[in-house]
Amino acid sequence: MSFRHTVKIIGLGALALTLSVEWLDWLLRRLRSRHGHRSPLKEVLFFPTALTCVEHFFKPDTTFASPCPCPLPHGLETSLTGLLRHLLSASVSLDLCIFAFSSQDLSRAVLLLQSRGVAVRVVTDKDYMRISGSQIGTLRNAGICVRHEMGSVYMHHKFAVIDGRRLITGSLNWTLAAIQSNKENILVTEEPDLVLPFTREFQLLWDSNDPARHFPRASPPSGTLAHLRESTPPV
Ligand SMILES: [Zn+2]
Repeated sequence: MSFRHTVKIIGLGALALTLSVEWLDWLLRRLRSRHGHRSPLKEVLFFPTALTCVEHFFKPDTTFASPCPCPLPHGLETSLTGLLRHLLSASVSLDLCIFAFSSQDLSRAVLLLQSRGVAVRVVTDKDYMRISGSQIGTLRNAGICVRHEMGSVYMHHKFAVIDGRRLITGSLNWTLAAIQSNKENILVTEEPDLVLPFTREFQLLWDSNDPARHFPRASPPSGTLAHLRESTPPV
C-alpha cells in the first residue's frame, strides 16, 4: 500500500468519525427535545444601552388609548428591558448581591417584587451603600432585608438569583452610569451547575454578615420588624 493511499484512508476515517460524532450529538439533542428536555436558558446582554421608556413594566395598564406621555422612545427592546424582564419574572425569591445600587428603574423593580410578596434579600458593600443616590436606604425603608459586608474588603459581587434557579451575573453594577455609559456585560442562565455555586455563595455571605453574629448585644428582640431590617441604620 502506497504512502499516499494510507494517508487517504486515515483522512477518510477521521472524516467518518467526525460526522458520526456530530450525527450522534444531533440525534441526542433531537431525542431530548422530543422528551421535553429543553436546554437551560442562556442569554448574554451588553451595555451601555439606549435610553428608552420602561414605564410599561411598572404600569402595565398603559395602552395605545392612554399612552405614556414621556418623551423617551417607547416599545424598544434593550439590554435594560431584558434585565428588567428577567428580574420581574421572580415569583418566590430574589437574592441580590450588588456592590453599587443607584438605578431607580432597578430599585422600582425590586420594590415591585417586594410588594408582590417576593422574598427579597440584599447583600451589599458597606461603603458604597452610603454614596449619594444609593437605593439601599429606600429598599430598607420598604422593609427589605439588607445586610452589608462586615469585613474590611469590598463586597464587589454583582449577581442575582431569581427563585433559586435563574442567575444574573456579570460586570454590571446597578447604576445609571453602568447602564447608560459603561462597557458592561451580564449573563443570564438557568444552567444548574452555574446557578448552584451562586446560591451557596449568597447564603454564605448572608450568614457571615448577620449583624447578630457581629453585634450580639445590639440585636433587637426576634420577631420584630426592626429585627428583620438589621441593626445598621438606613442610608
Ligand atoms: Zn414613556
